[in-house]
Amino acid sequence: MENKIDFQNLAQKYQTPYYVYDFDYITKQYQELKTAFKARKSLISYAIKANSNLSVVRHLAQQGSGADCVSIGEVKRALKVGIAKYKIIFSGVGKTDDEIKEALELDILMINVESEAELHRVELLAKELNKEARISIRVNPNVDPQTHPYISTGLHENKFGVDINTAKRMYIKAKNSDFLDPIGIHCHIGSQLTELSPIKEAVNIVANLVRNLKAALDIELKFFDVGGGLGIVYDDEKLIDTNEYAQTILEALFGLDITVVCEPGRFIVGNSGYFVTKVLYEKINSDKRFIIVDGAMNDLIRPSLYNAYHKIEVLNQNDNKSKCNLVGPVCESGDFFAKDIELPQTEHNDLVVIHSAGAYGFTMASNYNTRGRVAEIAIENNQDRIIRDRETFEDMIALEEKYL
Ligand SMILES: *Cc1c(COP(=O)(O)O)cnc(C)c1O
Repeated sequence: MENKIDFQNLAQKYQTPYYVYDFDYITKQYQELKTAFKARKSLISYAIKANSNLSVVRHLAQQGSGADCVSIGEVKRALKVGIAKYKIIFSGVGKTDDEIKEALELDILMINVESEAELHRVELLAKELNKEARISIRVNPNVDPQTHPYISTGLHENKFGVDINTAKRMYIKAKNSDFLDPIGIHCHIGSQLTELSPIKEAVNIVANLVRNLKAALDIELKFFDVGGGLGIVYDDEKLIDTNEYAQTILEALFGLDITVVCEPGRFIVGNSGYFVTKVLYEKINSDKRFIIVDGAMNDLIRPSLYNAYHKIEVLNQNDNKSKCNLVGPVCESGDFFAKDIELPQTEHNDLVVIHSAGAYGFTMASNYNTRGRVAEIAIENNQDRIIRDRETFEDMIALEEKYL
């Protein structure tokens, strides 16, 4: 990864910590995937939870992207910045009645149903509104995606989706209902996938179900949603080639007249983003060296939550390196960005750049320790601009203060 971003200049202009996203990189990733599927009708529905900043989502809307949403809030973000309602999918294992009703009223492409109980709720609510709910069913093909257990979703032991036999029952119910219109099928087996074989296995299982539904039950689906999950380089991962990925999916769909839907999150934004923080202090506690920076786990939780690796770079000229832990000011021992890594000796105010922070970075941030969420910056055509203000103390207390 080559830095063409002047982190120092941005730090002077906007203070630290901050997130910065390279919008041209986002365009490149989106176009790469869209092009890979060019042999067929396809819809790339960006998974908003990866990075839901309105300017990021609008940038993708302008490329023609759809949206994969896991809350009604995300659906509204998508609509707010101009993503067409017929390109919006609403997924998630625990949709509330209010969310389902609102999704039906907003007339989005489809609700991705994850259980029989949910199908029942969707039918009832659609009936109440006198609408026909367009749905897809999330099938859990029971394949091991070979990724981190927290981000693996395609095994029966996970909470996501339904098994093949349950899915069949649900399609029959939907076909026989006046208030349900089964138009799609979905599977998302996990995140940060770097092996093609589990994807191949999953799409073949699901494609066979599509054929079976057509032949045995005369149910003809229009959308084949392969979920997201394409991995990115954090360290030295060998990635799935996007053309091979698309080819594998298109081969599985041989003979079917169906639109491919793909829901990448991390692939689109992950390596567009950097989290930049500055050194406050160095200290040594019983032989152990710590670098303490102004960013913390509340800003970027992936190392604490998943033990995730992020490439870390100190911007100074010092090459006297030694092992240390890079930690934040939050009162938790879990507040670290890296443990036992070799970093140069640092001085107060040296900048530390944490790579691959564009996905599941800011969106997982919190106000823990009454720390305001940081500023977000976009770079496009070598121009920088702020796309979310740093939160102030007043922002943080606004919803409480009135009750004093
Ligand atoms: C999280 C999620 C995605 C995106 O996953 P990435 O690994 O970021 O590509 C896509 N679809 C669904 C249903 C998801 O829950």
